Amino acid sequence: MMKNIYLAIWYKCNQKCLGCPCGLNDNKDMSLTLEQITSFLGKYDPEEAICVTLSGGEPTLHPQFFEILDELKRRNIYVAILTNSEMFAKKDFADGFLKHISLDRTRIITTIHSSEKEVHERQNGTMGSFDRTISGLKYLFLRGVNITVKHCITGVNYKNTADFIRFIDNEFHPSVDLQLFGIDYCGLSKEEAASLFVPFYEMTPWLEAGLDTYLELSEFNKRRISIKNIPLCAVDPYYWELLYKNNHEIGYSGYADPSHLSNGADDNSGTNSHNCELCCVREMCQGTYKSMVEYFGDDSVRPIIPME
Ligand code: SF4
Ligand code: SF4
Repeated sequence: MMKNIYLAIWYKCNQKCLGCPCGLNDNKDMSLTLEQITSFLGKYDPEEAICVTLSGGEPTLHPQFFEILDELKRRNIYVAILTNSEMFAKKDFADGFLKHISLDRTRIITTIHSSEKEVHERQNGTMGSFDRTISGLKYLFLRGVNITVKHCITGVNYKNTADFIRFIDNEFHPSVDLQLFGIDYCGLSKEEAASLFVPFYEMTPWLEAGLDTYLELSEFNKRRISIKNIPLCAVDPYYWELLYKNNHEIGYSGYADPSHLSNGADDNSGTNSHNCELCCVREMCQGTYKSMVEYFGDDSVRPIIPME
């Protein structure tokens, strides 16, 4: 079975997202070095199948980014890179990147906040980023890189889900995967979190319209979707097949960031509300981020109770 390792190599970034989970970090000037990463990976059996998630901040800006990729390639490690992909709009950088990866072991995962440029750029505080991100992703896709577009549903964009899925369908080949996520409020103040929060029961009709759109389109193009940290009580049972817990479990057996190395990562999501204790589908439900329940209370999810 594949072992998953999460490496947050530093926290600097060229965007300023309203929902950035790195917001409360006090180690913004620190970074993991190539030497630390090499030593960390040395603890794992070279025969084991390993997938490293490279994250940040923005990992493509790390001064040793290409050297880190070389080390992962040398070890035959699968790599998922969480990046805003702005750097790939620069042809020289993108061409350089392609020399440091194995195409069959690399995946780019990039968040697009909305199908509307203005909403996307308001969410990440970075003018011009929408076009740069999309052109960077297309450049890599045409050169054989595996791409996943991630979309976090928030109080700002939740009415856009169906349009967003159609937009992805128009812009990207069906072999580009789609991820729909709830939002983790862990790096945000209560006020910042409140500006992005919408309870699942309010987003239901728009989320269901989005899933209807996905089902309609995927019948023909077979685009893959994964949905994470959105619980079963968010939608009608008709859609549960897309949300079941077992479809989405990853679990990290190793974790490192600039100030912390460990053999595992705390599980920051699940069925953590007291309401979940009353719910008859708890065993099948992936729940949502703990931070939502911590900030907005047990009633941010609603238990499913069989009728007498
Ligand atoms: S792109 Fe990622 S790291 Fe950068 S500000 Fe946005 S959420 Fe934070
Ligand atoms: S109440 Fe809890 S267990 Fe039930 S569907 Fe909602 S999140 Fe899942």
